[in-house]
Amino acid sequence: MPAIACKFGGTSVATKEKMEQIVNILKLNPQRKAVVLSAPGKAEGIETKVTDYLVAITQKSLAGQDIEKDIAAVKRRFYDIFEPLNISRQTIDGVLARLDERIAAEKSNSEKYRDAIVASGEDLNAELFAIYANTVGIKAKFISPVEIELIVTADFGDARVKNEGSANLIHLRDHINDGYVVIFPGFFGVSADGDIVTFSRGGSDLTGALIAAAIDAYEYENWTDVNGILSANPKTISDPDQVSALTYREMRELSYMGFSVFHEEAVKPVMKKKIPIRLRNTNNLQNEGTLIVSERLPQERDIVGIAAASGFCSFNLQKFLMNREKGFGRKLLEIFEDLGYSYEQCPSGVDNISVVLNQKQLSSESVNNIMRRIERELKPDDLKTEYNLSLIAVVGEGLKNKIGVLAEAASALSKSGVNIKLVNQGSSEISIVFGVSTIDEKYAVKALYDAFFCNQIKKDSE
Ligand code: ASP
Repeated sequence: MPAIACKFGGTSVATKEKMEQIVNILKLNPQRKAVVLSAPGKAEGIETKVTDYLVAITQKSLAGQDIEKDIAAVKRRFYDIFEPLNISRQTIDGVLARLDERIAAEKSNSEKYRDAIVASGEDLNAELFAIYANTVGIKAKFISPVEIELIVTADFGDARVKNEGSANLIHLRDHINDGYVVIFPGFFGVSADGDIVTFSRGGSDLTGALIAAAIDAYEYENWTDVNGILSANPKTISDPDQVSALTYREMRELSYMGFSVFHEEAVKPVMKKKIPIRLRNTNNLQNEGTLIVSERLPQERDIVGIAAASGFCSFNLQKFLMNREKGFGRKLLEIFEDLGYSYEQCPSGVDNISVVLNQKQLSSESVNNIMRRIERELKPDDLKTEYNLSLIAVVGEGLKNKIGVLAEAASALSKSGVNIKLVNQGSSEISIVFGVSTIDEKYAVKALYDAFFCNQIKKDSE
């Protein structure tokens, strides 16, 4: 039977009711055979995620401060969720004992000490959920990354999955073939030395993707508390359209520009196998969510989203006959590399080139250093800086085959009085990026949204 892998995020496991809803979701489709859980997150009246408490416990414990209250708060979260689900205090305490052991462990390697504690939110939650699921008629089995040997690098707090780690996950199929729903904690793996090592924050998405790939799932469902990806930021556009389907590449472009729906690294394992990701809302089962796929149908929109990010600056160089000077671009980018800066965009013309950077990286001294080196090494006719830029991206696979998108976008911006400072269309042709002054950002997004979404609706209904 084809299987679905599901991952439930922090808000979807935050309360007793949410746990009941997960059981409901699993029962609605028995193909949901592998379940990855986050640690309990925020909920109404609950401001602190379990993971945040665990981070605080580690810091305080390492500093020799009192941690009793924080430990009690973590335990209370688990009692509040599982006791009303008829799991006895004794059973819960039996599982929570693992947290006590980790807190009492030896602290000489502080990072190792931290990861073992911080991973406990997921670890304990998954084990307790498996116990509960069995009491309500789901044949569930808790499997831990340590037991199955999800081997990762020993980069504490930022683990990378090793090939043998992904390969070992294939054994989950044996449990599924035996009729179990596998319950697996997200966010961490185990090093070759047997230490628990976490991924970066939000890393349960990655665990879900690895498992989806390992069991060859036909879909990876990622459950959160939003309906899916919206085509623009609802703070700027009121009630923007939900994107029904987008490609992995479109998602990457949008998340680069600040759409944060999914842990970026998590796309890789599923993308390789062309497993669709479906983002879904635990609170709204009627909504089919957003599907992220390798190919989408042509009847979908040409443009899927308008994204904006602020806080950029650009170094703009002019040099007559620049195009004939071999190595000009390389030398320019080398200056940024030497000084330790990464760049975001590098649009160019015949005699001009700009390098766009995240402004946060810079200080007054560093700007002067960059300018001095550019002037000395490249001798431009003109060199100017521009601060407080916003980048606005129009993203869509449809850009590839469509004529006039750039013209339409530029005309929409000019009609609403937005001055375009720079334009960049990458060779992938799935996004056009406009640089505008940050004060114009909202007008620009509105103008582009009107042009590509509202007009399109008009066109569709004509
Ligand atoms: N619980 C972890 C965090 O808050 C990991 C996750 O939920 O994905 O970042």
